[in-house]
Amino acid sequence: MSETRLIRCPACGATNRVPEDRLAVGQRPLCGRCKTPLGKPLKVTDATFAAEVERAPVPVVLDLWAPWCGPCRMLEPVIEELAAEMAGRLRFAKLNVDENPATASRFTVQSIPTLLVLRGGQEIDRMVGVLPKSEIVRRLERAVA
Ligand SMILES: [Zn+2]
Repeated sequence: MSETRLIRCPACGATNRVPEDRLAVGQRPLCGRCKTPLGKPLKVTDATFAAEVERAPVPVVLDLWAPWCGPCRMLEPVIEELAAEMAGRLRFAKLNVDENPATASRFTVQSIPTLLVLRGGQEIDRMVGVLPKSEIVRRLERAVA
């Protein structure tokens, strides 16, 4: 018997039940409603921050980025892998700081990429710059422990 995880679709918001063993072998399951791949970072804006981050049932890893930021693009595939691997335990989201200055200033984010780990909208950890995946995993495991 496999455990199931509840994973929210980043596109349509439907909650999907996904067996953990499918995620463990690196499969990217699709949303049952709209067929979007699950386990991709959700796009969050200043307007949706309260609903998607503060009221999330699990801690949220918020990737603050901007399109002109080269290091942000280096981090992006790592975040996508983690979003698939840790789906259901953590919610991964990304916020464009150029388009959403209120959230960036609320958390005094001065450089990007910054990863904020938030529980109930409160910061529990922060990683600034591009870190190795192993280091990010170590800190996230501590956050969900
Ligand atoms: Zn969907």
